[in-house]
Amino acid sequence: MDLRYWLGQAVETVEEWAAEFGPFAPHPSHHVGDDEFAVAFADFGKRLRDNYPFFHPRYIGQMVKPPHPAAVVGYLTAMRLNPNNHAREGGPATADMEREVIAELAAMFGLGSHLGHLTTSGTMGNLESLYVARETHPGAGIAYSADSHFTHARMCHVLGVRGHAVPVDAHGRMDLDALEDLLRRERIGTVVLTAGTTGTGAVDPVHEALELKARHGVRLHVDAAYGGFYALLAGEGLFDPRPWRAIASCDSVVVDPHKHGLQPYGCGAVLFSDPQVARYFRHDSPYTYYTPSDLHLGEISLECSRAGAAAAALWLTLRLLPATREGLGRVLLPGLRAARQWAGMLTASPHLTLYQQPELDIVSYFPSEPALSGIDAASARVLADGMTGPDPVYVSALRVDAPALTARHPGLVADAPSARILRSVLIKPETGDHLGHLHHRLEELATRRSSP
Ligand SMILES: *Cc1c(COP(=O)(O)O)cnc(C)c1O
Repeated sequence: MDLRYWLGQAVETVEEWAAEFGPFAPHPSHHVGDDEFAVAFADFGKRLRDNYPFFHPRYIGQMVKPPHPAAVVGYLTAMRLNPNNHAREGGPATADMEREVIAELAAMFGLGSHLGHLTTSGTMGNLESLYVARETHPGAGIAYSADSHFTHARMCHVLGVRGHAVPVDAHGRMDLDALEDLLRRERIGTVVLTAGTTGTGAVDPVHEALELKARHGVRLHVDAAYGGFYALLAGEGLFDPRPWRAIASCDSVVVDPHKHGLQPYGCGAVLFSDPQVARYFRHDSPYTYYTPSDLHLGEISLECSRAGAAAAALWLTLRLLPATREGLGRVLLPGLRAARQWAGMLTASPHLTLYQQPELDIVSYFPSEPALSGIDAASARVLADGMTGPDPVYVSALRVDAPALTARHPGLVADAPSARILRSVLIKPETGDHLGHLHHRLEELATRRSSP
């Protein structure tokens, strides 16, 4: 699609509708001349160059990529009206779009009845899930894996709930025996399982944890902020589909359309399998809710104002690339394949070592050094040197502790409590076409003894 043309349509569509209300002129206080704007905009354009090229195959650092053009056009068009999805009177059109995209995400996870809404982030979605967990199991603690996102420990603190980090196995997945020990010892109301950890993309055994729900009466929350859209590829024979299928039997799930869903930042989602949890959000608003509606989005969320444009962007994107195997699934597939291909190249490399087999599209590796101190220094060097020079490559670092490294690579000398290793997120489907070059470049950087 031609972005220039459709950005023009974003302007026209709104102006056509606005014209139906009769002419009016913007207030003179808003007036800005084109010459004046040109100067500010040129400055602005220059300022924006202080960035990393998230859009380019050279960038394989964090889980970030620019939104799909459909999301950009959807966002900008709706943003010109600036609907607020807090309540229906904030914009009925985008409130309905939000319900529709939530239903589509629920279907992706196999959830039948559900209650859900978009959030500004995975963090907010997880906060709401843990808040409901606290309300359904008052006085009980919350367990999450040691490799889960830092938000869970933090939000437990915010909520005044005792948080428990459960050890992980040598693949970075929650150790369910350790979890069961904890469940016998402590009063735990909720277990958070991660479907795709932020660090390595490890997938907790959600399906095996389902038994604990029956045995210990715990609530299960799945943090699929990063990995959720991989549910579309479960059943392709590419990875174990059972954790993804088990999400349907859990109590809540979070997924971030602003990661794999091609959306700009400001788009997370939380879904609860029991619509009755709405009661924990119920409150009166003296300012809003004057239109009749089953439940306003603001009545089932902790946030008040939220961009209706975020719902619009996701709705328009999903119209074109639905949450199906053939839609968004085909966007995710090349990254998964590239991660596996790269894992093979790393395994064969004399200069780089694969940290662990990637389950999804995150690849973790480190310069082949005998001891942790050497790995740490060399990783830091590759990270820094990679970003400079005429042939840059942007990766990210992951700090792992000595037991985690030696569990995977018993020959390493643990001369430090932890070490930074390297990590790459192959979230862009284009990456696969550039693997050879990226790998070669990283090998070259890893063999350099010190910064020039
Ligand atoms: C990204 C991420 C989060 C946090 O989500 P934000 O949208 O960055 O707030 C939480 N959990 C996991 C597993 C994530 O990958």
